Amino acid sequence: MTIVPIREILDRAFAERYGVAAINVVDDLSLEAVLAAAAELDAPLIVQTSVKTVKAIGAGPLISMWRARAQAVPVPVSLHLDHCPDRAWITTCLDAGWNSVLFDASHLDVEENTRQTIEVVAEADRRGAQVEGEIESVLGVEDGVGSDEAAAVHPIEVSSRFIQDTGIYSFAPAIGTAHGLYKREPHLMPERVTEIVERHPIPMVLHGGTGLTEGQFTDLISRGCAKVNISTALKIAFVESHREYLEANPGKHDPPSMLAYVREAVKQMAVHYIGMFGSSGKARSLSVSAS
Ligand SMILES: [Zn+2]
Repeated sequence: MTIVPIREILDRAFAERYGVAAINVVDDLSLEAVLAAAAELDAPLIVQTSVKTVKAIGAGPLISMWRARAQAVPVPVSLHLDHCPDRAWITTCLDAGWNSVLFDASHLDVEENTRQTIEVVAEADRRGAQVEGEIESVLGVEDGVGSDEAAAVHPIEVSSRFIQDTGIYSFAPAIGTAHGLYKREPHLMPERVTEIVERHPIPMVLHGGTGLTEGQFTDLISRGCAKVNISTALKIAFVESHREYLEANPGKHDPPSMLAYVREAVKQMAVHYIGMFGSSGKARSLSVSAS
């Protein structure tokens, strides 16, 4: 039991109200490190890639890397494409074998977003994949997608109608979080998660989690945020560990030692969040229920 549809991981997490980390990887080293963390904790894991990473590595090489690494770990894992406004890249990734995609049409008006998301859901369905939807853009630019302008938050009824009309599998509601590091204390609207889940019991997705407290994570997960995205924390662990190693070892030119140091830092970051979200030890129960 290794690569599974994302619904096999999130249906259970949503029903039992624990969170599954969805970690944005940037290369083979970070991919292997986060999978090793999940294996160590016996936890299901979602690995995700930004469109920027897919463009940099190529969908073909990336999916080959993913399959080779994922099949080597004994826990259920799924591959998701994060914020993608470009339909052509959505198609490329679905064709290649991504299990889930976030079609980010939050820059369009809700009507056009709905119309196109319906098409993406049909396309994903033919591939046995799932779609995450959003109508309000998450504040902040992430890997070239998004805006630093705060977007309007629609009434709950608008989110409700969007979920109903599109048939998306998961939804990323606007709850006051932002991508990147918080410049000031975020004003969270956790009750929006509860209100949407009461109308449509589907997994909610938490974006912009880096910098939230453990209490804030736990509260949002208990309300239905079953998928918790981790992107900025990986970038920090990845870049800062390179910096630390280089500063501690001037004049040393030993790539394997440096990469081992970076891998350990990325793995510990993943262990920290997977443990905090409550999915440790859940891989085995998932395998039992699926067999
Ligand atoms: Zn996001």
